[in-house]
Amino acid sequence: MTTVAAYAAPAAKAPLERTTIERRAVGDHDVLLDIKFSGICHSDIHQAQDGWNPGIFPMVPGHEIAGVVTEVGPGVTKFAVGDHVGVGCMVDSCRECDNCKAGLEQYCTGGGPVWTYNSVGKDGEPTYGGYSENIVVDQDFVVRIPKGLPLDAAAPLLCAGITTYSPLKHWNAGPGKKVAVVGLGGLGHMGVKIAHALGAEVTVLSQSLRKKDDGLRLGADHYYATSDPKTFEELAGTFDIILNTVSAPLDFAALLSLLRTDGTLVNVGIPEEEVNISLQSLFGNRRSVSSSGIGGIAETQEMLDFCAEHGLGAEIELISAEEINEAYDRVQASDVRYRFVIDAATI
Ligand code: NAP
Ligand code: ZN
Ligand code: ZN
Repeated sequence: MTTVAAYAAPAAKAPLERTTIERRAVGDHDVLLDIKFSGICHSDIHQAQDGWNPGIFPMVPGHEIAGVVTEVGPGVTKFAVGDHVGVGCMVDSCRECDNCKAGLEQYCTGGGPVWTYNSVGKDGEPTYGGYSENIVVDQDFVVRIPKGLPLDAAAPLLCAGITTYSPLKHWNAGPGKKVAVVGLGGLGHMGVKIAHALGAEVTVLSQSLRKKDDGLRLGADHYYATSDPKTFEELAGTFDIILNTVSAPLDFAALLSLLRTDGTLVNVGIPEEEVNISLQSLFGNRRSVSSSGIGGIAETQEMLDFCAEHGLGAEIELISAEEINEAYDRVQASDVRYRFVIDAATI
């Protein structure tokens, strides 16, 4: 065990503060990585504030981790000291269920994956995430960050990148497809970049037009404000895929009216409140409502390689650890352009 500095929420809704945690000794198949950068995902905020389920406290959030390998266990074959690597939302799973075998570890049916934080590992100990100096992770849940991607811009890809890449691939975003991305935040801005790189025609649906210039620069072809009722008249029946990244409940009947026949509304945003969807908004055009959770480990590697090939990183605002609480407030006020990333050297 080693003692490392971290930022933790001591209790639900409490501000995060500097503390120390214990990391396990490097085991046979473990990789120790020196964390360089850690993204702030809105899921960190939902969990630190107990917005979904009762959390495990103290909680060290952070599942967008980019760092450098400093030690490997004797059985490690995939990584060596000095490698640039990342860790996302999961650090283990049963590895035996059909989903794990199919590379869908995020949907593990053998007890669910072990999440990077706010979870209990196979050793019975709580897991602690990326707002810390280092982390020990089984090599099978570590991915390689291609050298062409700067580590700070790569960190958010470990959640925001894969969470948008996976459904865009699954629902065949590409040439000839019209994709709308709802919400231009951390996930949304990566959704725009990735959908554009896949060749789709991309529309941003944001609350207002204040980020329009950014949206178009990131790769959107069109940009509309959902606060303007004309948007819904003009775009009725337009999209093959709507990727909803919003962290709050929306008017789903209005969003569904924008799908063309056989179109799909994929919800990756996870509001804390339950939402109502009227089946009457679906049957007329054989529309679907779906959802998607992050992506498997192999697909996360595929996404990183894709982003490196297309020169896609996150647009980040680099902060020091003592600015985490302020960053949380700004994310909740939709005042993020487009991901806060903690410089782990300041922890
Ligand atoms: P974020 O950076 O805060 O972005 C969310 C965006 O949604 C905001 O920037 C804003 O965009 C829009 N928005 C926020 N509140 C709104 C409201 N009340 N009405 C309408 N639009 C609103 O958050 P994020 O990190 O991208 O995460 C988004 C959601 O995805 C969270 O719920 C998070 O927990 C979830 N998530 C899910 C997965 C998964 O595996 N499914 C993975 C990661 C995160 P505009 O200003 O452009 O309107
Ligand atoms: Zn996340
Ligand atoms: Zn499993």
